[in-house]
Amino acid sequence: MEDLPLPEFVNLDKSFLCSICKEPLRNPMQTFCGHHACCSCLEGYMEEAHAVSAAASREEEEGERTVAAAPICPAQERNCHTVTKENIFLDRAIQKRLERQAAYCPNKCLGCVETLMWKDVPQHLESSCVFRQVECPLCKEDIIFSCVDKHQEEECPQKLMDCPNFCQTAQMKRSDLSLHMLRCNNICPYITLGCDFSVSTIAPERAEGDDDDDAAATNPEAAAAAAAAVLTTHEEESMKEHLRLTMKRLSEQEIENQRLRDELEMRLERKCQENVSAATPNNLDGLDETLRCLLLKHDKTITELVNALKSVDQQMQYSPDLLGMGEMVWKISGINAMRRAATKDTIKYIYSPVFFTHPYGYKLCLRAYINGDGLGKGTHLSLFFVILQGDYDATLQWPFSGTVKMKLLSQDKNFSDHYKEFRSSPNSNSFQRPKNERNPPTGFPEFSTHTLTWAKPYYLNDEIYIKTSVRLTSN
Ligand SMILES: [Zn+2]
Ligand SMILES: [Zn+2]
Ligand SMILES: [Zn+2]
Ligand SMILES: [Zn+2]
Ligand SMILES: [Zn+2]
Ligand SMILES: [Zn+2]
Repeated sequence: MEDLPLPEFVNLDKSFLCSICKEPLRNPMQTFCGHHACCSCLEGYMEEAHAVSAAASREEEEGERTVAAAPICPAQERNCHTVTKENIFLDRAIQKRLERQAAYCPNKCLGCVETLMWKDVPQHLESSCVFRQVECPLCKEDIIFSCVDKHQEEECPQKLMDCPNFCQTAQMKRSDLSLHMLRCNNICPYITLGCDFSVSTIAPERAEGDDDDDAAATNPEAAAAAAAAVLTTHEEESMKEHLRLTMKRLSEQEIENQRLRDELEMRLERKCQENVSAATPNNLDGLDETLRCLLLKHDKTITELVNALKSVDQQMQYSPDLLGMGEMVWKISGINAMRRAATKDTIKYIYSPVFFTHPYGYKLCLRAYINGDGLGKGTHLSLFFVILQGDYDATLQWPFSGTVKMKLLSQDKNFSDHYKEFRSSPNSNSFQRPKNERNPPTGFPEFSTHTLTWAKPYYLNDEIYIKTSVRLTSN
């Protein structure tokens, strides 16, 4: 109890005040004449009095050792007695009475209006003050108890949220929501760095033999899937541009950090000069120290990021193989949820990432119906091959001519992959030079039965892998 900080008392009686510091008594000592002072105040008072009287007696009778006279009680009333180490004592009774005096809750400044006995303050702070600090169970930040609900509802970065667009995405942390919202609204997430790509509306495709995309015009889920595919394509294609934007922002941040560092140094120097002239110890104050630590941390993060980005950039420049020329492995994670959605017809199909036959070659992707399409509806995984409009179509040979092999990869090397293969037919619309963003898909409505697809070794950890290999042939 004695170690607790003094509370702010409510109308504390003068008898509880130290006769030296005039504050509420700490470790109250009683003098012979019945007055009170804090233990440390009284010790200081006695030492000082001894020093003064010793100096005085040295001046009067130099060379002669005298015992300094004891000082008078600090209350200095008419009948006050002298105080010596022998005639003062620790007054536990007044301490006990002080502990029963009414005090304000130390969280008064935050808004707590409770008053309680000093001795009950710790208990109140520990478990009943609504303004006490508690740890948010989600983000571990210290939060005022009465604000935890509001904090979680309005700002906790770890709170799980639904997408306000009611899209198919599972709940996500609030801190991930803003990025998701950009994608969900078909805006390139790099908008914050200066990319202005967004998908406003998807024009319905009316290509022959592709009635699904007609459905996209009326079916909002299909339209959303189509828009998402366009955005995915943009992200794949603009990787370099996005990398450039990121590096630009980083170097801007580096410059800003340098500016802050210079300013901090200047302020520190000025403070040192002031302190030297005032002959006081020169310490950084807390704020400057915090700033300095923050800056160091930022610098380190920036350096790490710049290095990571540089290596990615180099890889992209020197090994086009990384873009999966002619081959693509499509990892589909969380596929069970997609299957459920497909069974309820809330999603019809999904697109794979885009890939190319070779640098500046045919631009391709896959379309998968998790719960089947056409002949395979409800019984099979359907897989289709799609030729996309590319930047180099004018320089390529048309119709597209080649063999396409699609494999459902085994996740256990003791079992073989399941595969189907087809050869392009020169008269099909699917293989002509694209007039729209995508050619009509072509492939296997009955690629693999549900029994095969949804079991080991192909389905494991809620993931499947589909590999596509394209080999070009001459017409
Ligand atoms: Zn005192
Ligand atoms: Zn006295
Ligand atoms: Zn309180
Ligand atoms: Zn929180
Ligand atoms: Zn969403
Ligand atoms: Zn972009």
